[in-house]
Amino acid sequence: MQTGKIGVTTDNIFPIIKKFLYSDHEIFLRELISNAVDATQKLNTMARVGDFKGETGDLTIKVEVDEKKKTIKITDRGIGMTADEVNKYINEIAFSSVNDFLDKYKDQASGIIGHFGLGFYSAFMVAKEVDLITKSYQEDAKGVHWNCKGTPEFTLNELDKKDRGTEIILHLDKESEEFANESRINELLNKYCKFLPVPIAFGKEQEWKEDKYVDTDKDKIINNPNPIWTQKPADLKEEDYQHFYKELYPHAEDPLFHIHLNVDYPFNLTGILYFPRIKNNIEIQKNKIQLFCNQVFVTDSVEGIVPEFLTLLHGVLDSPDIPLNVSRSYLQSDSNVKKISNHITKKVADRLQEIFKNEREQYEQKWDHLRLFITYGMLTEEKFYERAEKFALFKNTDGNYFTFEEYQNHIKENQTDKNKQLIYLYTNDKDKQYTFIEAAKGKGYDVLMLDGQLDSHFVNTLEQKFKDSRFVRVDSDVVEKLIQKDEKIESKLSEEEQEDLKPVFKSQLPGQAHYEVTFEAMQENTHPVIITQSEFMRRMKEMAESGGGGMGFYGELPDSYNLVVNANHELVQRICKEKEEKVGKDVSAIKDELKPLQDSKAELEKARENKKDEEISQEDKDKLEELSKQISDIENKKNEALTKFGNETPLVKQLIDLALLSNNMLKGEELNKFIKRSVDLM
Ligand code: ADP
Repeated sequence: MQTGKIGVTTDNIFPIIKKFLYSDHEIFLRELISNAVDATQKLNTMARVGDFKGETGDLTIKVEVDEKKKTIKITDRGIGMTADEVNKYINEIAFSSVNDFLDKYKDQASGIIGHFGLGFYSAFMVAKEVDLITKSYQEDAKGVHWNCKGTPEFTLNELDKKDRGTEIILHLDKESEEFANESRINELLNKYCKFLPVPIAFGKEQEWKEDKYVDTDKDKIINNPNPIWTQKPADLKEEDYQHFYKELYPHAEDPLFHIHLNVDYPFNLTGILYFPRIKNNIEIQKNKIQLFCNQVFVTDSVEGIVPEFLTLLHGVLDSPDIPLNVSRSYLQSDSNVKKISNHITKKVADRLQEIFKNEREQYEQKWDHLRLFITYGMLTEEKFYERAEKFALFKNTDGNYFTFEEYQNHIKENQTDKNKQLIYLYTNDKDKQYTFIEAAKGKGYDVLMLDGQLDSHFVNTLEQKFKDSRFVRVDSDVVEKLIQKDEKIESKLSEEEQEDLKPVFKSQLPGQAHYEVTFEAMQENTHPVIITQSEFMRRMKEMAESGGGGMGFYGELPDSYNLVVNANHELVQRICKEKEEKVGKDVSAIKDELKPLQDSKAELEKARENKKDEEISQEDKDKLEELSKQISDIENKKNEALTKFGNETPLVKQLIDLALLSNNMLKGEELNKFIKRSVDLM
């Protein structure tokens, strides 16, 4: 019997191991089973090259739990170890590597993914005592028993062992007794070992006998040692990919399509990525890709390894070339990781391009589920934008799809304004903006559907990318002015009449928001009153709301709209006529009163022109001030008369309400009043 002290520098290394990455104690199982897999693979390799001439036999790795004794046993039939090897690998090398590892990472534990490198000694995260019983594959090798009770002391004995290979028995400590539970171990095996390359047995297959499930003699294999990402694409059928997807995500809807990655130079990468059906809310859909290292599960959070938009994809990546025991920020600057990430981005773009080219109809059908992903990529990765601009699609309100180039040609003729700017009209709500969409279509314009979660950002990006182009939401102006052309419609209301009608309409504006009343000469058959919201103000507010830097000011402003009155509409003419009949005389009289005052004011102002303040006499200043006051008083009188007329003319309010109604802005009490008034007017 040999006793000894493991090559440690401090006596308290075990408590450190225990505390280390508290929440991740469960990885001990992955580490120990990985070792068992390695030992088995080594034996396989030796057998293949002829260095091992015996029978390899059944190589299944066995995991057993004793719920009563609180032990876990892991048995493999790999190469095993001689006493010398145990000394070398377990007592010296493994331990010193644990030492190094802890030294290096104890301060940044949370930044480490995978926590590879802790290896064998991670057993002490959960065990107070560990037995390692092993027999080397070498001829005449003797069995060895190593035991360690959670202090740097160990014992090493010779022992009779029948089979080649290694058996590790963990005696769980009090705090870790949760692991002496079959369903907990099942869960861990399922998480970390599902695709390990050697069969792993845990428990027995069950069968239905009489009225319940009972264990059979047959071991239950919990893993799939040949997952399809390790196979050749040529050997696989579409169903295989579908089947594997279900294996990964039993509850997910079918994916749209997949990419099989397979690179061995200049880095090693295999994997299968699936395009899921992405609807809304990006955040919940992220982080479904599982990262493996030689079929050992490492993490399901691949941020920092692939560009952010790719985290929307599903599937698996397997690469031994992604450094695992480093922090995320280090990962991003690692040159291999960069190469891998670029490669994946390129492959994803190539695949989309290929489907677009070869199966356009299918691609269009899937577009609605794809576009959030593609938009996200185009917004966040310049390289992806450059590729995607060839296969990204626009969809218009009629449900037709166009590439960017096709669409440009489609609208060029009709939607170029007088300044040679190409105007892209869009809606973000087909129902709410129905009236505006119809008006635009009536003019032969095309309207795009841009109602996605990211589209308001996307519009900004596209405006920067496209030359001489602007995006204008259909409800940002009356149709005559959405695309400014040279043609001009004569107004049937004079400027003076428009001036008089302004206070009439102002008197009936709804509260809450700010409205600017303007008159526009439109087609007679367009609506009498239209409410629009300027593209600029709306975008500023949207940006302020989504937290755009320094835009807070816009966020605080009340909503601001334009109330545009169609000067050529018959009903507006009628209001003008009624105004003339009811208050025309009074208003004229007031205007007559105003006229001489305005004239003298204009004269005084003219005399002041080009003079400095000190050159003007006090008398003149006082006179001007007095005049201004008189004018404003009389103007108020005029406004009062017109406001009164507005109040007494239900048609005015009716027209405004109709405009609100067509924008979906008439609600509650106001809507109720509108209905009553409509009945009265009829
Ligand atoms: P690593 O696996 O990273 O080398 P470990 O601490 O997990 O580090 O293991 C140290 C060494 O002990 C291994 O490299 C291997 O030589 C040996 N070893 C561990 N487990 C086994 C096993 N089940 N069978 C044979 N050798 C093993």
